[in-house]
Amino acid sequence: MFVFKSIKLLQDHLSENRPKFGKVGFVPTMGALHQGHLDLISASKAKGCYTVCTIYVNPTQFNNTEDFEKYPSTIELDIVKLTQNKCDVLFLPSSTEMYGNHVVADKYNFGAITNSFEGALRLGHFDGVITIVSKLFDAVKPDEVFFGQKDLQQCMVVKHLIGNRFYNIKMNIVPTKRESSGLAMSSRNVRLKDDERALAIRLYEALVFVKHQVLMGVVASEAISIAKAQWLNHPKLTLEYLALVDTNTMEQHEIAGPELHYAVIIACWCSNVRLIDNMLLTD
Ligand code: AMP
Repeated sequence: MFVFKSIKLLQDHLSENRPKFGKVGFVPTMGALHQGHLDLISASKAKGCYTVCTIYVNPTQFNNTEDFEKYPSTIELDIVKLTQNKCDVLFLPSSTEMYGNHVVADKYNFGAITNSFEGALRLGHFDGVITIVSKLFDAVKPDEVFFGQKDLQQCMVVKHLIGNRFYNIKMNIVPTKRESSGLAMSSRNVRLKDDERALAIRLYEALVFVKHQVLMGVVASEAISIAKAQWLNHPKLTLEYLALVDTNTMEQHEIAGPELHYAVIIACWCSNVRLIDNMLLTD
């Protein structure tokens, strides 16, 4: 695997190799890699792409200093995992490389897609995401990109960005990788103590319950009230949202339409770790 820290060297390498390999596939990450990230690399490789992964903890998408400072970093191990999974290139930029001396995000407004749920609760988060994703797309110039369904709203934001500005890029959404308990894999899970990890599984259980109820025709708010009482009523759990949304608009609904492009989404603090997860009605 080639490792580059500068955009110039990365671009020289890619222009040299693009004709040989055809498509470039791109997987942006913040590191502390787990099997969910590696599934994105495998999806890119399976589509025959020359695969570039970035590891960059983007400061402008954190609205909480503690979350940024405590974000896990396991770079040596990440390199081993990427090599074992046949990733072709790792791009490891510094903040100066990505932002120069002005580490700030541009402002974006894609309506409810940027302003609801994660956008409302983590102010400026999607400004940071869109700013860094745009910079990375400009640097890598990928043919295909691979994002995880785990961050569903982020997928919709990136889809919108591609539709607005990067229309030659093909977006791929890869299913959420879960532990056998159902807990969605996340770099932040390492911060959970054993008892908190056991509680975190309740997010998954609540999603499964609400999804089945909605599919049976129960109004979402009724199903959600029951799920809250049954799984989320615990002193160490602080629910931020549990809702049924139309994935195309990220607007909340009470009943799913026949097209089923709906998902149940959740954000919940488990002690001092904020976890998000979701389930499509078609999952
Ligand atoms: P992150 O490093 O958390 O910013 O995530 C980098 C990419 O990996 C994003 O596209 C995430 O949606 C994706 N990802 C994170 N966790 C999972 C998971 N459990 N399953 C699949 N993809 C994931």
